[in-house]
Amino acid sequence: MKTGRNDPCWCGSGRKYKKCHLDRETQPPTKASDWIATKKTQFSKKTCMVPTGMKAACEGKIISAHSISKSANLKPLSEGGHVLGLSASLSDLIETKGKIVPRPIGVGQASTFLGFCAKHDRELFSCIENEEFSARNDQLHSLAFRSLCREYYGKQAVDFMPNMIADMDKGKSNDDQFMTQAMSLLNRTGIESSKNDFKKAYNELGKALELREFKSLESLVIYFDEKLPFAFSSAWAPLRLLDGSDLQDGSDLQHECEVVMFATAQSTNGTYICINWRKDGAKVGQAIARSLLNYPEESQLSVLLQFVFQHADNIFFQRRWFEALSVKKRKQIDKLIHDGIDFFGSTPDAHIIPDMRLHPATPKNVAYVNW
Ligand SMILES: [Zn+2]
Ligand SMILES: [Zn+2]
Repeated sequence: MKTGRNDPCWCGSGRKYKKCHLDRETQPPTKASDWIATKKTQFSKKTCMVPTGMKAACEGKIISAHSISKSANLKPLSEGGHVLGLSASLSDLIETKGKIVPRPIGVGQASTFLGFCAKHDRELFSCIENEEFSARNDQLHSLAFRSLCREYYGKQAVDFMPNMIADMDKGKSNDDQFMTQAMSLLNRTGIESSKNDFKKAYNELGKALELREFKSLESLVIYFDEKLPFAFSSAWAPLRLLDGSDLQDGSDLQHECEVVMFATAQSTNGTYICINWRKDGAKVGQAIARSLLNYPEESQLSVLLQFVFQHADNIFFQRRWFEALSVKKRKQIDKLIHDGIDFFGSTPDAHIIPDMRLHPATPKNVAYVNW
């Protein structure tokens, strides 16, 4: 059957065939500069990510909000005002042929996103920005909410990805066009499904924040009595435990996955690593926590750090620490960073190496909060 010029296009874009895939093989290919411009626009969207009920109280401009506190967490890691980080712009990626290379980022920029108004950024995170961190319930909640908001903001921003992929077949053969559209659809379904996982966690944490009722989270809090040379704040739905065994089924897009939030917080004399999850997601969160605590004490920090490198890009570290690592250790980090982001799946699954010490610190104290 032949598609008529005015029929809906076979690709599912909703446009007429003549306005979409007709003669696509002769259309000029999309330029990288168009993608860069689109991505830039998407990540420049300004919004205050407080729950709807609090929006009326927004005040001041939407600011470039830190998702990791600048003074307490980033500054101590910095040298000459810079930390090393993984966030790469699309133009960086094109320059490095898709490779993510740790690069210096100013502490003013590191971890920021346009996700809060001046007032809410100041008020909601005051308990972690201006008070000594001691893993109180309100502090854990603020920390987790901020990790979650940054990732959820990113999930909404990458909405452009499927459209971008759908346009990659301009100037290509019919076979390539079918392949590209299938890939775009898969990408769109994946993004939608993941957004829903985040939405559930976001709604619940937002509501708790509105009611100032901070018991909806369970946490594993690990305290080290020294300043660790890295800081991170992230959230993702872990599909596997730290030892690589299966945890949640991510391939079934109807199945809702549970999101877990990971963040560090410095105190005057030490560093806390906090893993937080919804009480309703206790099965997943507790399994992650236990799979970490199963390792001998001296391995726990290194195993967790490898896990974070594998899943999060919102991680920053001290140049001195990174450069002192052996080539073998840096290679392992590189492998973990690139695991799972390769579009065509040609990167083999990276595994955590339990006895590879990225840092010698052992936990001073481990607390199970609200379990
Ligand atoms: Zn089409
Ligand atoms: Zn606001």
